[in-house]
Amino acid sequence: MAIATVNPATGETLKSFGVMGAEEVERRLATAETAFGSYRTTGFQERARLVLRAADLLDADRDDIARTMTLEMGKPVVAARAEAAKCAKALRWYAEHAPALLADEEPDQDDIRDSGAERARVVYRPLGVVLAVMPWNFPLWQVVRFAAPALMAGNVALLKHASNVPQTALYLEDLFRRAGFPDGCFQTLLIGSDGVEKVLRDRRVAAATLTGSEPAGRSVAAICGDEIKKTVLELGGSDPYLVLPSADVGRAARTAVTARTQNNGQSCIAAKRFIVHTDVYDAFAERFTAGMRALNVGDPLKEDTDIGPLASERGRDDLEELVEDAVRKGAVALCGGGRPDGMDRGWFYRPTILADITVDMRIHREETFGPVATLYRVRDLDEAVALANDTPFGLSSNVWTREAGDIERCVRDLQAGGVFFNGMTASHPAFPFGGVKRSGYGRELSGHGIREFCNVTTVWHGAEPSDS
Ligand code: NAP
Repeated sequence: MAIATVNPATGETLKSFGVMGAEEVERRLATAETAFGSYRTTGFQERARLVLRAADLLDADRDDIARTMTLEMGKPVVAARAEAAKCAKALRWYAEHAPALLADEEPDQDDIRDSGAERARVVYRPLGVVLAVMPWNFPLWQVVRFAAPALMAGNVALLKHASNVPQTALYLEDLFRRAGFPDGCFQTLLIGSDGVEKVLRDRRVAAATLTGSEPAGRSVAAICGDEIKKTVLELGGSDPYLVLPSADVGRAARTAVTARTQNNGQSCIAAKRFIVHTDVYDAFAERFTAGMRALNVGDPLKEDTDIGPLASERGRDDLEELVEDAVRKGAVALCGGGRPDGMDRGWFYRPTILADITVDMRIHREETFGPVATLYRVRDLDEAVALANDTPFGLSSNVWTREAGDIERCVRDLQAGGVFFNGMTASHPAFPFGGVKRSGYGRELSGHGIREFCNVTTVWHGAEPSDS
């Protein structure tokens, strides 16, 4: 895949970049290793100073970097600005909280004595150079939610970003450099996915994190398994959105529109499968359909656009195939179901709801990465939970109910890394983020995220020898 900015709203190539050669990659690996040698010894105060400076710079750059993201991958510019603001917030959150999250831990005194020690503690030390393989859909956020904790923990980062967002990737390197991070603490590698294995196998790379598709995750995990290197994988999702009889149907339907179409429908944690109790199905379907129809599809640089183009022609074609397969097998489009009229230049797709889904349809099991919702009618909670779990994925889940019994049941039984009641899934620096099943393993954000790339070290002191 060429490394280039291709405007998804027009199909026009705006800027192309050469792939970095072996010598340049080697130079960057060596710089990263040297940087880690000294950066690892810095204290939280110094790291926080640099991270906070990066947050301030990002705030100042917000409009420019938002426009760049929109031109590279098509998200509405208003959402791009919000993404940049969220990144600055995460940087500040980790600058403030990392010292407490990584504070030394002292085991129980009885256990210390029982181990034969005079004293003991657990310390969190950085692992080293971490390679981050990242996707284009939230081109700033995916990187920052890894980089903020990694840098606060004392690690250094190499970024292999998606090939269609090279300007955002280079911006990130420049941001951390301007913030004052020593040379080599955060570097971008302009390489294709075929160049990842060599970097992963390099002895100077200690660990890797990948956010992206299942095949990419499998490949990185297999190579790192072979090398015995730590990985975190954040992969696809097909999150269920349960609407139960006691739900506030109006709010559930309004939120459903945003939950499905945020980021032009290209979010791993977007609600994708809408599983609705038969008592409220008709009311929900009517309002959800009206909300989807009202969305404004158009130029993502315009302030009032709700839905821009999909990021690539391939992505639009894949989505179109999934819808066509479902409709051929009997699904009914309540709205959308194709490309918008008169918008032939970019890779647009109309917000779509498909009802009457059956298990033989590809869309029942595959992830829809675009503004297409599938709608299911269920008779009771048992059927809703079974359907929600009938997916290879397990990223997050959403449930609308006012019943304590429903809540307890869903927390116990939904196979996902998150259960969000009466609202939509969203990430926040304070809460762990990640999935189970084919959605990956490990967690980002919160204390769980920052500890993923730490060497959790036991420090044990035997009794001092007595003088006699
Ligand atoms: P993708 O093809 O897997 O690309 C993601 C990154 O992996 C890119 O940098 C890509 O590089 C690289 N890559 C692709 N194949 C690779 C391989 N075999 N070895 C090493 N690196 C490889 O993902 P996508 O389809 O563009 O992105 C959408 C997917 O990401 C969806 O499934 C979505 O759900 C998932 N996602 C998950 C999360 C989460 O947090 N769980 C968040 C966002 C997105 P190139 O661009 O050079 O190919």
